[in-house]
This record gives sequence, C-alpha cells and structure tokens, in this order.
Amino acid sequence: MQARPDPRYRPALNFGELQTIAGEVARASGRKINWHLRLGENPGPLVRIRGTQADCTIFIHPLAAKKVPANTWAFLFGHEFAHLTEKLGAHTETNPDIELKADITGSRYATAAGFRLDAFLGWVLTEPNKTTSSHGTLHRRVDEIAKRFGIHQAAIRAQAQLYSDYRARH
Ligand SMILES: [Zn+2]
Repeated sequence: MQARPDPRYRPALNFGELQTIAGEVARASGRKINWHLRLGENPGPLVRIRGTQADCTIFIHPLAAKKVPANTWAFLFGHEFAHLTEKLGAHTETNPDIELKADITGSRYATAAGFRLDAFLGWVLTEPNKTTSSHGTLHRRVDEIAKRFGIHQAAIRAQAQLYSDYRARH
C-alpha cells in the first residue's frame, strides 16, 4: 500500500488497482477465496457477488468503478466476501441484522488489509440516506459499525467533509 497514493478519496487508478485491492482484502480475510472481478451492468447495483467462496465473481458498477474512492472499494469487497465466508446468504434473502454482520466482518477484512474505516464511513455519509427493507437505513448502519469499532462520530464527519472537499476540487 505504501507505494500507492492515499486511497481514501481518489478513485481507483484503473481496473488493475481494483483487482489489487480485492486481492489484498481477500488475503487479509485469512480465508481461501477464489474470486474474479468484472464490470457489471448500467443501470445496476454498485456491487454484487455471485457464486461461492471456492469460485465467486464480484460485479461492480462500470461508472462507479471510475468514481468511488479506492478505499471505499476495499470495504465493499470485504462486505461481499463476508457474505460468502460467514455463509450469510444471498442479497435476495437478506435483512438488516445479516447485513450488519457482513458490514462488521467485511470491515475487519478491509482494515486488516490497511484500509481506513473512518474514511469509508465518511464516504457513506456523503451518499443519499437510502432505506431498504433488506439493508435498513444507510446512516444507521454507519452508527452501528462505528460503535463496534470505537470510531467517534466527529472523526467520521471530518472524513465526510474531506471527501466532499475532494469532490468539489475534482
Ligand atoms: Zn450484504
């Protein structure tokens, strides 16, 4: 990670860096995950995963791939991997409790790989506060994850501001 520019706010440099990040998070999970990364459809979800831990494919939104911060992808990949490693089931049959479990485990994987949870949660705060029956409220998830990892709200708000500043300049 030292050789790469700070990944907290900037997008991934290219598809290769996204693959590097997925590999780092998979390795940090301590599980054997045989993954592939592909660009998904537009319109389509930000990220989704198909398959099993032995053979899975992560699909990422093609426009988001060029826009969402590199650091954020580490946590999105971690979340998706956690669905498989913790056998949390598919996204089609999920609920907020299961999603929080995937958030917590996935955050462990990404932080173990050296990525920054405060910056990820700050990024989430800059996103529209969507509510879905499967995932609950986005900002509520931020609160729950922050609590588990002992991250203060002020630190997350500071990261959200830094990301907003970055977006205003680029
Ligand atoms: Zn999920």
